[in-house]
Amino acid sequence: MSNMDLTAPLVIQCAITGSIDPDPERRPNLPSTPEAIVADTLAASRAGAAVVHLHARLPDGTPTQDREAYRGLVAALDDAACEAIVNLSCGSAGGRAIRDERLGPLELSPEMASFGCGSINFREQLLEGDLPFLRRMAENFRAFGVRPEVECFDTGHVGLALQLRDEGLLDAPMVMQFVLGVPGSGVPATVGMVEHLRAMIPGDWPWSVCAIGRAQLALNTYCILAGGHVRTGLEDNLWLRRGEHATNAVLVERIVRIAAELDRPVATPDEARAILGV
Ligand code: ZN
Repeated sequence: MSNMDLTAPLVIQCAITGSIDPDPERRPNLPSTPEAIVADTLAASRAGAAVVHLHARLPDGTPTQDREAYRGLVAALDDAACEAIVNLSCGSAGGRAIRDERLGPLELSPEMASFGCGSINFREQLLEGDLPFLRRMAENFRAFGVRPEVECFDTGHVGLALQLRDEGLLDAPMVMQFVLGVPGSGVPATVGMVEHLRAMIPGDWPWSVCAIGRAQLALNTYCILAGGHVRTGLEDNLWLRRGEHATNAVLVERIVRIAAELDRPVATPDEARAILGV
């Protein structure tokens, strides 16, 4: 797919829950039990999300990077015949897992998983992405046949992704996810930064933006117009509009409506598999 092909189907990804601690008063709609995560994932898929990005939680809502917790989610989605591409987190579960401890979900051979391509101050924590670890992570993705979604939280992360390609550890074309507006550091959630980041990669690589908080809607819309793909969902933004809590499904439904108005077709899961090389 060309970087600027506006007739190409739009891949909508929904990031269902993230790894922030549950707080039912402040975040009433954030799914934080395994059952709620599965229910929200199925609803987002039915609403039009071709990719679902998942973090696992224990029954009490505590984020966990435990492989078996992920296995339960994947099995429940299989039982429900969920057709969306499942994209598991290789993050830190809110600082509970470091480096190689983050990689357990790869052993389940999901279609995709997140490949955080460098170090960053993430909220109050350091998410570690030193080069020796990134190389081991890339080898693990390859060993388990998992398509990496290369998450770039900063411009230097794009450079690291290109270096890993040159080292033969990541296969081009890569699936790029530009993560903008993370509190603590990272790059700001601006159109200028989106254009800067996409200019750093070859024109035929699929790219998407996730933006935190109120920047989500504006940059999702911009990416639909600019030939990119979008990630929405409660992991990144809790609000439908000021004072009104969103749900995962209504965030996806809104993107589907905007894409229709902007004449961008929405990818089915199988179309997304072709676009993303899954
Ligand atoms: Zn995530």
